Amino acid sequence: MLLDDICFYCGDATDLVDDDDIARLRDQFGIVHPICSVCKLTKPVKTRNVIKSIKQK
Ligand SMILES: [Zn+2]
Repeated sequence: MLLDDICFYCGDATDLVDDDDIARLRDQFGIVHPICSVCKLTKPVKTRNVIKSIKQK
């Protein structure tokens, strides 16, 4: 994980979601900000950098 492992919204680091939803988003977006289970209930998972064409380094 390159980002700080804290919730994007509230900064909680103890109850972050890492489920199939997040895994799917990680496949689709370059960045998926961590989100805790509480915030995930009411807020969208924050993503950035849509991968349109995957370039291998
Ligand atoms: Zn949170």
